[in-house]
Formats: sequence, C-alpha cells, structure tokens
Amino acid sequence: MPAKGGYDVVIVGAGAMGLASAYHLILDLPELSILVVEARSRPGEGSMGASNAMVRDVFSTSDNQVLARSSISFYRRLLKEHEELRTPTPLLDLYGYLWLLPESLRDEYYSIVARSEGMIDAEPVSLDDLHSCPGLVVSPARWFEGDEANPPEPITGGLFGRYCGEVAPEMLANFYYEEAKRHGVEFLFDACVQRLSFEGREEILLHEPSKVPFAFQERMKGRLHISRVTLGDGQFVRADKVIVAAGAWAEKLLHPLGIATACSPQAQLLFSVSGRSVEELLGWEPPVHPIDTANGKARCPFLILPTGATLKPIFRQRQMWIGCVDSVTHAIGTREDPGRDGRLDYNMAQMGDREAFGTDVLPAVTPYLPSFETSGVRLENSWGGYYHNSPDGLPVLIEEAYGVIFVGGDSGSGVMKADSMGRLVAAQYEGRRDAQLFTGDSYRLERLSLTRRVVESEKIIL
Ligand SMILES: Cc1cc2nc3c(=O)[nH]c(=O)nc-3n(C[C@H](O)[C@H](O)[C@H](O)COP(=O)(O)OP(=O)(O)OC[C@H]3O[C@@H](n4cnc5c(N)ncnc54)[C@H](O)[C@@H]3O)c2cc1C
Repeated sequence: MPAKGGYDVVIVGAGAMGLASAYHLILDLPELSILVVEARSRPGEGSMGASNAMVRDVFSTSDNQVLARSSISFYRRLLKEHEELRTPTPLLDLYGYLWLLPESLRDEYYSIVARSEGMIDAEPVSLDDLHSCPGLVVSPARWFEGDEANPPEPITGGLFGRYCGEVAPEMLANFYYEEAKRHGVEFLFDACVQRLSFEGREEILLHEPSKVPFAFQERMKGRLHISRVTLGDGQFVRADKVIVAAGAWAEKLLHPLGIATACSPQAQLLFSVSGRSVEELLGWEPPVHPIDTANGKARCPFLILPTGATLKPIFRQRQMWIGCVDSVTHAIGTREDPGRDGRLDYNMAQMGDREAFGTDVLPAVTPYLPSFETSGVRLENSWGGYYHNSPDGLPVLIEEAYGVIFVGGDSGSGVMKADSMGRLVAAQYEGRRDAQLFTGDSYRLERLSLTRRVVESEKIIL
C-alpha cells in the first residue's frame, strides 16, 4: 500500500515516460508529493525493457529532431558526470546508424539532412564504401527463391547518422528511478491501476457507487475532477492530478473516461541471432566517423535495410538483434487489459513468436544479406513489446480539464525522446506554455496536443 492516502500527483507507469516525468517534476517542484504506481516489479519493464533502445537525431520532422537530440545530449551529460553509468556497458554508445538506401529514398534522406541546417549530424556514404560490408548484396535478384515478382530495390548509397547509437535501458530506468526516489518520489511496484474515477469536490453530487459524474457537471468549470486511483486489489489512493504514462496500456484507463488519445498500440518483435554471418558483420570496420569508437576504430553500425529490416550489433554477446516494423500481421491493441483484469500480465518472452522470424522477418533481410539464410545464422531468442503509435509519429501530450495528463504515442521511439517528454510533462503540470529542453531549446507544448497539433508527419519510423 502507498504510505499516504493521497498525493499531489499520481503517475501511472514507471516506463521511459513516467520515470522521466517523475524525475523532472520533483526537481522542478521539490515540495510535491508524488506517487508512481507500476504494475511490474521493477522500473522500465514494460515496452522499454523489450526495446532495441536505439537513439538517433535522424528524423524527418524538426519536432522529433529537437526532442530526440535534447534527450541524447542529456544522456551524454549523465554518462560524463556519473562514473557508475560507464560500466559494465556505457549508458550511451554513439557508434552510429547506417541507412542503406535505394534510389527512391536516397535523395529524400539527403535533403532531410540538408534542410535540418545542422540539427541532424549525418554524412552520406558512397556505394563504393559500402562494398566493404561483409556479405552485402547491393542489387538483389529476388525477394526469395521462386519469387518472380519485382526484386527489392538496389542500394545506391548510404547515410551514416553520427548522433546515433544505443542506450542501456535498464541503466537509464534505474538512474531516473533512484534519483526521483532520492528526491522524495514514492514508488509502488506490483500494483496495477485498474480504474481512474471521478469524485465529487465540495458539494457536487455523484452517482453512487460507480462515481460516474452527471453530464452537466462537465460544464461546471473547475469542479469536476478525477481524484480516485483504484488499484487491482480494490484499494485506492487519492490524487490532485493523475499523469497517465502507461504506454501501450494507457487507453485501457482513458477510454472508459471518454478521453481519446488518438494512439494505437501494436506488437513489435525482436529476434537475436548468432553465427558465422553475424561474426563477419560484427568484425566489420566501416569507413565512417562515429562519435564513439572502440580503440579509435569504427564498429559495425545499426543497419537499416531498404526493406525496413534493422540489425542491431550486440558486441559483447556476439549477436545481432533483428527487427522489422510490422504493421500488418498484428492486430491493433494489447492482449492485456488492466482495466478489465486489475493486473497486467505482460510477458515479453511469450510475445516472441519464433516462427515469425523465418516467415516475416528473414525474407526482408536475405535479399541483401543472403548469408543470413538459416545456415549462416542461429536464432537464439525472440521477444516482443508494443509500439504506441500516434497518427503522425510524433508523441502526444494532452491535459484534460478534470485533472488528467496523458503522455504517450512513442511510435517506436520513446526511449530516445523520454527525457524531453519528462520535461514537457513537468511544464504542462506547472501550467507553462513552453518547456525548456536540456539543449536550451524552448518547446511549445501545444505542438503535441491533439487540438493544436503540428501538421507534419514523421517519415522515418523504424
Ligand atoms: C521491439 C521494440 C523495439 C523498440 N525500439 C526502440 C528503439 O530502438 N528506440 C526507442 O527510443 N524506442 C524503441 N521502442 C519503443 C520504446 O520501447 C517505447 O517508446 C517506450 O518504452 C515508451 O515508454 P512508455 O513509458 O510510454 O511505455 P512503457 O515503457 O511500456 O512503460 C509503461 C509502463 O506502464 C506500466 N503500466 C501500464 N498500465 C499500467 C497500469 N494500469 N497500472 C500500473 N502500471 C501500468 C507498464 O507496466 C510499463 O512499465 C521499441 C519498442 C519495441 C516494442
């Protein structure tokens, strides 16, 4: 049970967004009483724990560029200032992304970089330079054996993103958790929020026992308020403000209140592989100039094939993690429903469908890396989490008049924007119009609202 019966703020979810929000809120307003309720037993074990945890400033929209760049800069500062964030792996390792681009995308990506006026740190890579990549076939003949349809497009060049690499997600989660706790934030783990409900303030009458308000009460400015957070075990806690940072499961709490987020969760899988072909790629010393090197040498970057398949090098375990954004084989929605069940039975290992590796993912890799045919790689593991997709690939931040703030819509890139989103949530709570990002940029909050949103869609979703 929480230590107190009521808090100034209750945050639902100790994932990337909830943790960063708790941290920035308590730093800004140390007098606040804040409780974070998390269904899992540790911080960062929702989709954050299932994620590739890659970071990049290469986005088509300036909003995503600004939000990601500031977060990456903050993580970089943490690495510099905290010795404990350097081992066993560094919190942040900017070894780079390499997009292998077909003609249809190459000019578009180069012009996105040019238009960013220095916001994106990336350099073109010539086709000649790509020939040193072990096993890479730049002009595939077919999708798969026996398929006579048009082959995948040939690669005509590359783009190397320098302000790009990986974070250690458990380290990042722990940093925010420990620091928030040290400053007075309380955490309640293994506790699932089942329901948020309206409760009368002062003389407002409410239906009993469901605490549903009368419709007319919505018109009573400032009087209707969500203040009861009911947990799966039937206990409840009161809150002046509730911040829903529940990732893919947010709608299960918000839809019953009539709050639309415009976001939809969808499962995404990752597969770890090892073997001869993986070893060859891991040993590649590409002709690029990353920010972080190993003994002064560039290492195999995060690779993005023209099919959308991605390969993340895992140097210590001698593996690659392979993924491919999938918007057709998984239904929209989550299997788990905390609102219905009062618990969150999310199990990332059970979501991993090993068969999908051969049927859905490998065919997006082998045209360009034929040695990844099953004899060249061994499937070690598979797991899954959720992308919480917004309609345009930008995050969503909204506040309802009756005391609920929602942050989400990561669209598969929430770890890399988490710090900025935490700052935005704190600014929203404080009633400011703009948030100050770590880089010093000022960001207008309403750009991520639903009613006054930026009208630009993100094109680079991985
Ligand atoms: C396969 C895959 C690859 C990815 N790759 C990347 C990447 O390379 N880079 C990147 O930046 N992002 C990546 N992502 C996306 C990233 O995981 C998300 O952007 C990030 O986790 C979003 O943070 P969040 O806090 O909104 O959600 P989560 O991390 O899921 O956190 C939400 C938390 O809320 C808790 N919760 C939910 N409902 C309740 C409830 N009712 N009561 C109590 N607790 C509750 C959950 O247990 C969870 O801990 C990837 C995701 C997947 C699935």
